[in-house]
Amino acid sequence: MKVDKIVNINKDLCTGCGVCIKICPPKILYLDEGGACEVKDESLCDRLRGCERKCPTGAITIS
Ligand code: SF4
Ligand code: SF4
Repeated sequence: MKVDKIVNINKDLCTGCGVCIKICPPKILYLDEGGACEVKDESLCDRLRGCERKCPTGAITIS
């Protein structure tokens, strides 16, 4: 079971553009079967908010 939340993803806002996935240094982001961004192991997140800054729709935020 996943204990969240460092990486918060609003799947209603995510377009599946993949920008955050490309720039995430520890590569913990991926697209799920539905084409929305999902996080694997958020304990590896550097919390530097690169994804948050680059996401064109504001779908991903870091706590
Ligand atoms: S804050 Fe950085 S390490 Fe964490 S999910 Fe976003 S890009 Fe990846
Ligand atoms: S950058 Fe934003 S819209 Fe694009 S895949 Fe990531 S969370 Fe979704």
